[in-house]
Amino acid sequence: MKIAILGAGVTGLTLARLLHQDQHQVTVLERAKTAGGLCRSSQVGDFTCDEAGGHILFSKKQKILDWMKDRVGRENLVETERQTRILWHDRYVPYPFENGIGALTPQARFDCLKGYLEAVERRKQGAPCPRNFRDWIDWKMGAGLAKHFMIPYNEKIWECPLEEMDASWVAGRVPDAPVDDIIKAAVGLKTEGYTHQALFWFPKTGGFQALTDGISGGIEDRIQLQTPVQSLRHKGEGYQVNGEDFDFVINTIPLKELAEVYEDMDEDIRRECKELHPLSVCTVLVGYKTDSPPDPLSWIYLPFQDQGPANRITFFSNYSPNNAPPGHASYMAEVTYRGNSLKPDQAWLDALVTSLEDCKLLRKSDVVQVQPFLNRYAYIDQNLAFPQRIARIRQWFDQSGILTVGRFGRYEYHNSDQCIARAFEAHTQIRELAQTGTPKPFHFSS
Ligand SMILES: Cc1cc2nc3c(=O)[nH]c(=O)nc-3n(C[C@H](O)[C@H](O)[C@H](O)COP(=O)(O)OP(=O)(O)OC[C@H]3O[C@@H](n4cnc5c(N)ncnc54)[C@H](O)[C@@H]3O)c2cc1C
Repeated sequence: MKIAILGAGVTGLTLARLLHQDQHQVTVLERAKTAGGLCRSSQVGDFTCDEAGGHILFSKKQKILDWMKDRVGRENLVETERQTRILWHDRYVPYPFENGIGALTPQARFDCLKGYLEAVERRKQGAPCPRNFRDWIDWKMGAGLAKHFMIPYNEKIWECPLEEMDASWVAGRVPDAPVDDIIKAAVGLKTEGYTHQALFWFPKTGGFQALTDGISGGIEDRIQLQTPVQSLRHKGEGYQVNGEDFDFVINTIPLKELAEVYEDMDEDIRRECKELHPLSVCTVLVGYKTDSPPDPLSWIYLPFQDQGPANRITFFSNYSPNNAPPGHASYMAEVTYRGNSLKPDQAWLDALVTSLEDCKLLRKSDVVQVQPFLNRYAYIDQNLAFPQRIARIRQWFDQSGILTVGRFGRYEYHNSDQCIARAFEAHTQIRELAQTGTPKPFHFSS
């Protein structure tokens, strides 16, 4: 088949590679100057950085993890034991917070343990799972964990009242700690959360984009850069994209953007797609001089408003020694925002660096490089209307003949490994279609 793939992020590139191997004639259309999407990295002076915040390579699925490592090249990977902390007022607390409560003040430890046990008891008595995220936090974690971490942190990152958020996305995202772990943590016994990320990998050179570069290796000539999708319409049995005929179309660009150019879309679905608002992230590379390497941390969370605008700081030069030149280290700071509410001008960047100094992460006078990157599509706005809206949209597309996948092509809160897993699922269905010639509704595992 002659196949158009819209978008050259990790999802589109994985599908391009697999379909090219099957001898299909593939064309990838990408708006940006370089491929990689949210996995893109860049060189700023002698510093390497990931444009959408420090990315790590990991997966719960061994087959996907192996495939990713092979694409980067195993000799080009640094293995790191994850060390993450929350900067909680005057001290560092291990992450996830539930596993770190032993490091809190005695009063906060008591609040967290009491609240957690009360929540377990309420659930045992049959308290139903609430729909909104704010109530879910109380229901699942209890009042202490809610007050001391979950509410301030989530209000900061999601930039909205948590009552307005749906709770269904949290499964698998917010750690589900067994009660024994909470009790152990409270009395100071070591427990480990998020064990699937206990080890992670990062490319020695090239930033995380080494992954997407590896995926697209050998098919670079199939990718048309600086080529925004401007029109998509049905033509006979096939499609026309930007005026060129194709047998099959795979979408990985945000559905909100697709709705602007897809002429034959159902009008109700078009309206629904336009209501899918993204949460954006501004990532800032901060490079600084130092005689001694930074603490051996992977990243830290800054849950409180008085810690400045960033919600997470990646210790990016710890991911690979090549991410910063000798005698220097680097951080990637992440600040979420909605709409056009953030302008990273000099005053804003100065204030951000000052907040890092106030958190004792660096001395302002040592800073040699500050570079912001805006990522309009970063997180999914999990508002209360979202689950039903996206279910209607996916159902319509899955019957429509156009296959739509990817973080914003399907609006799934997925990391790159899960995007790759989805691309594998899509590939199996396209293979079947190519062999039988009989279109069937697309379907994906939950
Ligand atoms: C802050 C943050 C941290 C993350 N950390 C990790 C991590 O540590 N590990 C991990 O594995 N994953 C991480 N992720 C997730 C990972 O980045 C994404 O899941 C993945 O990159 C999504 O790939 P995609 O191809 O589906 O979408 P995208 O990367 O968004 O690709 C879509 C592509 O479509 C292009 N496009 C858009 N509109 C048009 C148009 N009109 N015409 C043509 N092209 C267009 C875009 O330029 C883009 O290249 C993180 C994400 C964020 C936001």
